[in-house]
Amino acid sequence: MLKKLFQSFRPPVPGQHHRRTTPEVINKSQHSLQRHQFSRHAVNIVERLQSAGYQAYLVGGCVRDLMLGITPKDFDVATSATPEQVRAEFRNARIIGRRFKLVHVHFGREIIEVATFRAHHSEDDQGDNHRSSHNASGRILRDNVYGTLEEDAQRRDFTINALYYDPVSERILDYANGVHDVRNRLLRLIGDPTHRYQEDPVRMLRAVRFAAKLDFGIEKHTVQPIRELAPLLREIPPARLFEESLKLFLSGQGAMAFEMLVDLQLFEPLFPASAQALDERPSYTHTLISQALTNTDLRVKQGKPVTPAFLFAALLWPALPARVLHLQNQGVPPIPAMNGAAHDLIAEQCARIAIPKRFTLPIREIWDMQERLPRRSGKRADQLLDNPRFRAGYDFLLLRESAGEETDDLGQWWTDYQDANDSQRRDMIRELGSRDEGTGAGPRKRKRSPSKRKRGGDEAFE
Ligand code: ATP
Ligand code: MG
Repeated sequence: MLKKLFQSFRPPVPGQHHRRTTPEVINKSQHSLQRHQFSRHAVNIVERLQSAGYQAYLVGGCVRDLMLGITPKDFDVATSATPEQVRAEFRNARIIGRRFKLVHVHFGREIIEVATFRAHHSEDDQGDNHRSSHNASGRILRDNVYGTLEEDAQRRDFTINALYYDPVSERILDYANGVHDVRNRLLRLIGDPTHRYQEDPVRMLRAVRFAAKLDFGIEKHTVQPIRELAPLLREIPPARLFEESLKLFLSGQGAMAFEMLVDLQLFEPLFPASAQALDERPSYTHTLISQALTNTDLRVKQGKPVTPAFLFAALLWPALPARVLHLQNQGVPPIPAMNGAAHDLIAEQCARIAIPKRFTLPIREIWDMQERLPRRSGKRADQLLDNPRFRAGYDFLLLRESAGEETDDLGQWWTDYQDANDSQRRDMIRELGSRDEGTGAGPRKRKRSPSKRKRGGDEAFE
């Protein structure tokens, strides 16, 4: 499967994929796009800008997705008007961004993003830090150099993302042979791939995201520099990587994206501790993470809600046992070792991917639940059922079991318990009395005597 993704279906035609100043024009009769498929609001914006004397087009993901028969997530407009000029045209418009200034035009809940044509950065622009700046490795820190339509096409990432649709003439303008690549289902960077990744390493993640989401191959020159340049992702602000990682894992093709990230060595700079776990316990770690992502993909396809917390809990869980052990070897008792390891692991991860507090808290709760689920005696089982995190904790337990963790059939017990009536439940709890219920949970597998369990156990969580 991966092999198929990375192969080039057709060798690039010499000279064809270089800069072109006149676009290929695809007339209404030569493509399948129809004006009414686009958001009415986005089309209105384009028409208004054009009537005001500016150039304006629908561009990017919406054109690409509609050509592929996919419903676009959002609609982007590109125009020759500056952000200030766009704002002046629309009452409901707001300028946003610093690194990349854009206008958001609001229509109730729909937001149309309007971007001014941008040019590549030339040496001359370097002196003007307000408009353009790079760091030492060539990364673009600010990108507000405006340009022509042709220039705007050249600075976009992939050829399939550089198609401009004019809803008035219903023609597509193609400066980078994007239509050819859409038809051949091939992801190809515009320009020199190494240079384009150095400018913005997140393009490596975008390559994976689009290849996974669209089921496209990655053209061989586009894939070739990725492994070597993957460490550049360490320089990307963690907040941007959080946004990007959600798009990677919640697009409905997260399991495929994970395979590709690992294969292209992009997983390590994003999740260093999990990558280490993947090295040390490949089969278990791989199964757990891809199972979590496969479940998530299914939920996305069914339109069910998905929580990033559950996903991050799964992505990081395999890295936890080594940390717990390390602390225990330093003399830290089991429960504080577990808590300390969880805290450290999340703090370290946030240095790469800034997971917001509203998700890190539930991650901890899902993990804590793994320690609690084995302790069911007395009223504990019913208290756990009432816990708002029970469902996530239980699902997580099943996930661990599906990856081969030994839990003494705890998942089945909880499945039965939820189905049982009151008297059956009482019987189930009574039966527990004869068994040692301290085993099989979490990274620790130690058997403890009942008295010890009482002292060292639950209090630490309560
Ligand atoms: P989707 O919205 O489905 O995720 P998209 O292609 O619309 O996909 P956006 O992030 O919305 O992606 O960006 C809109 C367009 O802006 C892209 O199609 C591409 O032309 C351009 N673009 C976005 N990010 C970059 C980047 N890092 N480098 C160059 N061009 C980019
Ligand atoms: Mg978009």
